[in-house]
Amino acid sequence: MIPLRPEKGSSRGRPLALTQTILRAWERRFVNRALPYAVQQPDGTYRWWYETCTLDDLAAHLYGETTLALSCTDGRGHCKWLCLDGDTPDALSHLLALRDALAAQGLAGLVEGSRRGGHLWLFFDRPMSVAAAYGVMLHAFASLGIDATRYEVYPDVLHAGRAGLLGQAVRLPLGVHLLTGKRYPLFDVTGRPCYFATVRQAVEYLLAYPRLSAKALRAQWLALNPAPEDTAAERDAASALPQRQRVGTFSPVIRWVDVHISPLDLLADLAPDSEMRRTGQGYLGWCPFHDDRAPDSAGKPGTPSFYVVWNPRHGWSWKCFSTNCRYSWGFMRHSFELFQRLLDLTVKQTIVEACHRWPEADQDRQVAR
Ligand SMILES: [Zn+2]
Repeated sequence: MIPLRPEKGSSRGRPLALTQTILRAWERRFVNRALPYAVQQPDGTYRWWYETCTLDDLAAHLYGETTLALSCTDGRGHCKWLCLDGDTPDALSHLLALRDALAAQGLAGLVEGSRRGGHLWLFFDRPMSVAAAYGVMLHAFASLGIDATRYEVYPDVLHAGRAGLLGQAVRLPLGVHLLTGKRYPLFDVTGRPCYFATVRQAVEYLLAYPRLSAKALRAQWLALNPAPEDTAAERDAASALPQRQRVGTFSPVIRWVDVHISPLDLLADLAPDSEMRRTGQGYLGWCPFHDDRAPDSAGKPGTPSFYVVWNPRHGWSWKCFSTNCRYSWGFMRHSFELFQRLLDLTVKQTIVEACHRWPEADQDRQVAR
């Protein structure tokens, strides 16, 4: 059986339905921004829809009822994946070789067939800056002696890395290409197309595919491009001030987020690999800002060092207990700053993002703008 040939009539994968849990995992993996999304037209082109892409829309794509392409960035310069598009006649074999070469550099990805060649997907475990993702990939290309211009990369820094721009749309895997009526296969580690009996099996196979650590890639990028940290340090100093001193100089949106948004929810959404667990009065997990999983110099395994706590007087706060971490010093910090640090944005950008996510935070529109 050809992998996921579009089923005629009856089954369409319905009997082995995609569950909410599966669809949410698919959404977490692929949706950089839910609005707008692009829908393939019968001539194979795509048209943007200025509506929110729902789990039902994602299911319709996977069941072959419609074919979606999603923006390759969140519009603020962050992405959850890179997709390399090869469309020369021999692209598929090149992409499979490239996949193996990149995997040896720590950038393991998944190859999927396409109409004219294939796509190589690199997935990140949380949104990361396009500049860092793209930069690390280019560095790997250079060290492998590969000409990067052979592939289209989505997103690329020129077109999609800047905040505010709508990233190009990339067709989601496993949908039916309307021009050919085909679903294109995923390729296994040996380079052979995968065979699945149902849509659900194919989706689960893809979702089990490991994601790269955004934290590790960002560290790699910073090592390649040491950036002056002065302004960041100043911002740290400002946001580490006690809450009362911050009032007046900072937006009410910041206070709204600090009061209403739990760091645990932010971590579950933006840094799920922190795996926060209840401990004593608070919660402890892996730090999203430094590598506390690595063994220490004596070879002892790493310990979780990121601490979150709630108390009636100060609300939610957090800090890292590791002296290796820049978030270990000073006062306990609050939710807004965690949100900012996880998204790697400026304060102003974070306020805009917060109002976008939690419209009720936008009590004073003049500040939010
Ligand atoms: Zn830390």
